[in-house]
Amino acid sequence: MKNHTLKIAFHGAAGEVTGSRHLVTAGDKTLLMDCGMFQGHRNDAALKNREFKFPPASVDAVLLSHAHVDHCGLLPLLFKNGCDAPIYATPATAEIAGIMLADSARLQEADARFYNKIHAAEGLTIEPMYDEDDANKAMAQFKPLGYDTVFEPIPGVTARFQNAGHVLGSSMIQLDLGTGAGKRRLVYTGDLGRAETLLLDDPTAPKNTDYLVIESTYGDRLHEPLQDAEGKLVELIKTTYKEGGKLLIPSFALERTQEIIFILDKIRRYNLAPELPVYVDSPMAVSLTEIFNKHRDSFFFDEKFRDYAKTDGDPFGFDFIRYLRSKEESQTLNNKKGPMLIISASGMCEGGRVLHHLRNNIGKDNTTILLVGYQAAGTLGRRIQDGEKKVRIFGMEYEVAARVDTMHSFSSHADKNDLLAFIKAVNPARGVFLVHGDAEARAELKLSLEAQGIKNVVCPAMGEEFELN
Ligand SMILES: [Zn+2]
Repeated sequence: MKNHTLKIAFHGAAGEVTGSRHLVTAGDKTLLMDCGMFQGHRNDAALKNREFKFPPASVDAVLLSHAHVDHCGLLPLLFKNGCDAPIYATPATAEIAGIMLADSARLQEADARFYNKIHAAEGLTIEPMYDEDDANKAMAQFKPLGYDTVFEPIPGVTARFQNAGHVLGSSMIQLDLGTGAGKRRLVYTGDLGRAETLLLDDPTAPKNTDYLVIESTYGDRLHEPLQDAEGKLVELIKTTYKEGGKLLIPSFALERTQEIIFILDKIRRYNLAPELPVYVDSPMAVSLTEIFNKHRDSFFFDEKFRDYAKTDGDPFGFDFIRYLRSKEESQTLNNKKGPMLIISASGMCEGGRVLHHLRNNIGKDNTTILLVGYQAAGTLGRRIQDGEKKVRIFGMEYEVAARVDTMHSFSSHADKNDLLAFIKAVNPARGVFLVHGDAEARAELKLSLEAQGIKNVVCPAMGEEFELN
């Protein structure tokens, strides 16, 4: 192992929760961990996304923790701007990234068309950051590798992916190299799953770690137990069945939708609730569920799930759930009478087909809207969750007569207690960097860690670089 100067620079998700980009330099070689998109208001996002603070052509290897857009969404722009490095990721992450990046390109193209149309009189135009061709070019760079496969992304640095339990394929990135001061191990968690997950193998703490770069999304909050989800869903199905209405679940297409489908499969299998038609109305969720089904016997999933899948050949309910891809099929649901359950994206009701279902059903008192994830301030999902009596959908005002409920037991992220337990188990010898969390979450987690005797806890600022001795 050659001796190198090791540095890490934080080019995103430093004091906020999106746009993860962490640049590791070993000697004269550079390795980028994640290349995520900052997600926020248009002007702010344009500023943070369109220009890299490092030359894309200087990146020698990209290692991707998982396929959420806030971790992989700028890969096409990186390659459009001169990078030609390989992208290492697990096979499931590579497959899911293909779907996410193509969708991201289409959204940007549609957004640019819309912006340019409404600002035509002022002569204002915007260009999408990248298009589907750019996304395809980035996809051609993927080199899929399984967990625990040792590889050498840049000379002198060995790497391996380990299960992070966050979404299908998600991984922690472990880097080993020799510095002037000796051998060093750096682990980046990517997004870290809960200590106990529903479908995936639970994350385990890597050993002999010197430096830990860890997310802190829920550094100041606790989740409700995952076990509560099934009972709540059973109750809502019973009510929907009795009232003959629609149970509408706006859901994130990756992981959350498959978790709900799996619970529905269990409810059906054990006859816990009356049978009602179930529709998954989101082309992306359909494609992603197919990837889950394809990998369902693999190491990505935990033992409990694999045991279930052994006795139930159809854990994602393909035999009773109608998976809808086409717009026409989706529209037929408008005229169908309940009871029925519809799962549709997006999870915060900011776009996607769920808007049509909301428009058609939010004014009916036999509709239940079940929110199953975090609802960011300013989103339609948040307004519905806050109990607003009137909401605007596609520019029209609608009275809210539907029952609104929130399930707090789902999350793909470790909560405060999970993070503390994980960091204590890793017990990094030289330092902890808290990323991917807002200021309050990071500050509270740092205080709690210090109270427990964990030293050298750093909250890096955007663009800040550290030499790792
Ligand atoms: Zn994520």
